[in-house]
Amino acid sequence: MRRRVILDGFPRTLGQAESLKQLLESERLALTAVVNYELPASEIVARLGGRRTCEQCKAVFNVTERPPKVEGRCDHCEGKLFQREDDRPESIKVRLEAYDRSTAPLIEFYRKAGLLVRVAADGSPDEIFAITLTDLKSRRALQLAS
Ligand SMILES: [Zn+2]
Repeated sequence: MRRRVILDGFPRTLGQAESLKQLLESERLALTAVVNYELPASEIVARLGGRRTCEQCKAVFNVTERPPKVEGRCDHCEGKLFQREDDRPESIKVRLEAYDRSTAPLIEFYRKAGLLVRVAADGSPDEIFAITLTDLKSRRALQLAS
């Protein structure tokens, strides 16, 4: 059986993508697909803006999607939940702008290479996982057919 790996969140920059390409070529390994999860900025702000972190054990909750049993308190250790500076809407906007600046060239790089698979990330984790599998399988079927 051929072994396969998934790189999660890597590469993040064009420079890293070029280094990865050289490494894979020297090892005679092929990159089969690059999945980019896409979500409107307003949705990202809403999701990240709902995050709350436990002061003590650092567990992460979300006020809308994964609320703690008792408001403002950690389910695991009853520690106080707070909003990280990074998760405030104005910080999220800055983070998104930086992310777009560094990933836009990366997306173009993989689009030109014919490896980019775009997945709309609006749904539950299970739904998004199912869509990802379907997209990758249909892509693989196309590759085998050609
Ligand atoms: Zn806790």
